Amino acid sequence: MKIVSVRALQPETPGSPPDWRTQLGQILVRIDTEDGLSGYGIGGGGLAGIHVVETVLRDMLVGQDATDVEDLWNRMFRHTLAYGQKGLVIMAISGVDLALWDLRGKRENKPLVAVLGGQANTTVPMYKTGWSPKEVAEGKLEGFRALKLHMGRMTVAEAIDQMALVRKTLGDDMELMFDAFMSWDLETALDVCKQMADYNFGWLEEPIRCDDLAGYAQLRDESPVPIAGGEHEYTSVAFDYLMRERLHTVLQPDVCWCGGLTELVRIYELGKKYGLRVCPHRGSEIWSLHAIAALDPDPMAESGRPWMRFVAGQPEVVDGKITLGDAPGFGVTFDEGLWL
Ligand SMILES: [Mg+2]
Repeated sequence: MKIVSVRALQPETPGSPPDWRTQLGQILVRIDTEDGLSGYGIGGGGLAGIHVVETVLRDMLVGQDATDVEDLWNRMFRHTLAYGQKGLVIMAISGVDLALWDLRGKRENKPLVAVLGGQANTTVPMYKTGWSPKEVAEGKLEGFRALKLHMGRMTVAEAIDQMALVRKTLGDDMELMFDAFMSWDLETALDVCKQMADYNFGWLEEPIRCDDLAGYAQLRDESPVPIAGGEHEYTSVAFDYLMRERLHTVLQPDVCWCGGLTELVRIYELGKKYGLRVCPHRGSEIWSLHAIAALDPDPMAESGRPWMRFVAGQPEVVDGKITLGDAPGFGVTFDEGLWL
């Protein structure tokens, strides 16, 4: 299954929130093989990511056999080691890796959930990521297993008020989490953690900057609530460190950024080894969902926003759950016109 072309583009995403979806730019990668198959994956890095895919990675991949995806991943990582390792280059590799996995599933004529040892048509429970307490009050939570609320840039008092209010509104049975998106310094985060212990939260996500590993070590030692993070971390090498040092209790790799499905599978293996939970970022998007359905001992997919309108055939969310189909690979299709 020789690779004959490697291409990437940044599709239009009308209506997307102005964040990583648009500013940073998610890229669509397509790999064609000589037997007429095409594999697709989503990576990141915008125009710079496209440059990496269509120069460095393409030159390395064209003419190679697409079958041994893990070997190709290791070679791409090694090939870019001097300037890669984290960030944009790994986001670009992620898209290529996902396209290679799509080809793997199509060649075996199986959905990737089955390639990974799970069952087609598996239903995955979901948690809802909410952006305002108003959404909570409007009760759009039917069927969802849990709620995660974004805290934005709140003061300690505002954050604790918010937590108390949401817990009171939803009752004691609903699983609740909060995401601070790196908004606080360590002192503030510790203060919030100590005060929020009374309200029974599943996790507090990214309370401080993702690169403040000393801060996370202090939170590990002093926070009474579990700390989640990892959506801005790259490769199983870094996740191995986070887990070994127990800097996070819940690990949240983003498959389109952390190195693709090859790395997500390795991160799930690390989770098993260290006895820690892996709960992928934006897990209900199709790129993580097959791995969650096949590999996760406590599957829970994060709700998304409908920004990837250029991806056809994505499963619908029904009553807070999402069910994979049985089409080969990731099971999604793309308009050929994108490539004209
Ligand atoms: Mg987050």
